[in-house]
Amino acid sequence: MWGEHEGKGSIFSNVQLPMASQKKCPSCGQWTVWNVSIDDTCEHCGAYLMARERAYEEARTERIKRDKEKFLFTIKPTDNALQRVARRVGYVFYVTYVAILSLITAILFWLPG
Ligand SMILES: [Zn+2]
Repeated sequence: MWGEHEGKGSIFSNVQLPMASQKKCPSCGQWTVWNVSIDDTCEHCGAYLMARERAYEEARTERIKRDKEKFLFTIKPTDNALQRVARRVGYVFYVTYVAILSLITAILFWLPG
């Protein structure tokens, strides 16, 4: 219990990350300048040094975009005037509903007992 936490803390406190450093290119295997950025490329072959992290980041952004498009009240470019109004009104109701829910939760939370 305490041992695990202490161990993790001491490992990370001993690591010093310099702002600019060197990283071995995952593509060509040569050492290249790395500014600890996800967008840095290898100076020898031009490959992304954090290709895996980049792919993960892109997948995450794509998922957020998809979720937003799936959201019922997001106005789409293909919507006609009536649909736009309906979505806006629906959105107001939805926000009100969420606000009331959080208010009830807050009241229940602050109630004694
Ligand atoms: Zn390279």
